[in-house]
Order: sequence, then C-alpha cells, then structure tokens
Amino acid sequence: MLVHPNTGLAFDSPVLPGTGWPGDPAEPGTPKAADAAQVRALAGAAGSVPELDAVVSVCRACPRLVAWREEVAVAKRRAFADQPYWGRPVPGWGSIRPRIFIVGLAPAAHGANRTGRMFTGDRSGDQLYAALYRAGLVNQPTSVDAADGLHTKQVRISAPVRCAPPANAPTPAERDTCWPWLEAEWRLVAEHVRTIVALGGFGWQIALRLPGVTAMRATPKPRFGHGAVAELPSGVRLLGCYHPSQQNMFTGRLTPAMLDDIFIEAKKLAGIK
Ligand code: SF4
Repeated sequence: MLVHPNTGLAFDSPVLPGTGWPGDPAEPGTPKAADAAQVRALAGAAGSVPELDAVVSVCRACPRLVAWREEVAVAKRRAFADQPYWGRPVPGWGSIRPRIFIVGLAPAAHGANRTGRMFTGDRSGDQLYAALYRAGLVNQPTSVDAADGLHTKQVRISAPVRCAPPANAPTPAERDTCWPWLEAEWRLVAEHVRTIVALGGFGWQIALRLPGVTAMRATPKPRFGHGAVAELPSGVRLLGCYHPSQQNMFTGRLTPAMLDDIFIEAKKLAGIK
C-alpha cells in the first residue's frame, strides 16, 4: 500500500471501492458494468448524480482501457512513484446543479487517472482550474488531489470517455460503450445548465449529441471555434474553447487571457453575476 499525499491514508493502487479515498462515490457492493449492455442498463437506471458517479467509478466494460488504466496505476510515473493511483474510471466533478457544464475528452494517465478527479494533477487541469478561479467559479486556484478542498457551486466538469486511454486515443467502440454515462449525467443535470463549454472540437461534437441538443442534426451543424457560440434548441448556449492542452498552452494557441475571456462569456451566457 502507498500513502495518499494529502490525507496520509494508505491505499492499494488502483484504489479499491469503499476504502476511504476522498470523494470515492462507490462501495464494495456497487454494481460493476462488464460490457456495453450493462453500461446502458446501469446508466439508464441511475436516479441521481451520486448514484451515477458510483457506478461510473467501478465500470469495467472496455477490456483494453481497464488493462491500461490499471497498468499505469501500478507502473506509475517516476515523479509519483510514492503515491497511490486511482486507476479507475473518473466520474464527473463539481456541482450536481451546475449552470455551466464543461465537456473535456478523457482522463490523463498520470493526471485524473492518478488523482481520481477530472482534470486534476496535470498541466491542462492547472490551466483550467486557475482560469475557473480567476472567474470566481471555484474556491481555489489549484486542483492537486481529491482531498485539497476544491469546491464549486456553479460548474460541473465531465468527459465522454472516463478511463485514461493509451496515447490519449480511445477507439470508436470504446467511445460508444462509454457514451451512456455522459448521456445519463446530462439527463440528471440538464435542467440546471445554461451554458456548455466544449473543450476542443471533439468536445463540441460530443455536446451536439447530448439529448435535447440532437435537434441540431436537422440543420447545418454549428462549427467549432474558440469563442464560437451556438444557441441550442433547449435554449442552452454551447461555447467553444480550445482545449487547454500542454501543446496549445505552450505554443500560445491558447493563453490564460483567452481562457479568461471564455469563462467571462460562459458566466454571462449562464446568467451568473
Ligand atoms: S471507458 Fe467508460 S465504458 Fe469503458 S471501462 Fe471506462 S468507464 Fe467503462
């Protein structure tokens, strides 16, 4: 067992459900989806966000991704060799009544796959949470692990694939298998959401597939761009943002000021003062 850097508690790596990992939504008896049909069934039956988070966090439906996330959790990166890795699917993080819903891509192998929280523990997350803090949407500028006290009342962050994929590239079949989790999350939070922020073109395409948004298929689809805004049939606004990847930030394609502009606009579109 290894010691969690913030709590001092010891965990296996990957973390077993119900062993006290901060924010672990699952218990030892939480049902585990073993294939795509079971993902669909459990996602469709989830009656609340915490219930959904629990079943997402123990899913084992994609054999390649299960093997990869757990292998990474055991091998680790040298800088984190003394830490336990979450090594499980990463549920959405944030408010259960969000006004802003942020859609990313998939967890990073040594980021969210290590910390168990969306966008936490990697450079992309450093940029994203710092910008959310500058916009007044989270209570602290850093997100380092699941016990660091980060909190938000307005935002939820999720992704269409919940396990870290090799080379950051899930297969189309893996994306399809994972899709019902995001669909169910959207079903459970949509009534509160006024703005969706799509991180990157793929996040934009994903947002256009969400239930209640699919009427967009009948018309020319709005095109992704940084700062692009699409009014969806439900009245929700979809706002495009370049993904805060290390490459985009390093090359200057996306800057902290550009991220700030996005979240100022997201707040305005969501009616947040
Ligand atoms: S990618 Fe999604 S569906 Fe596949 S194992 Fe992970 S959580 Fe389950």
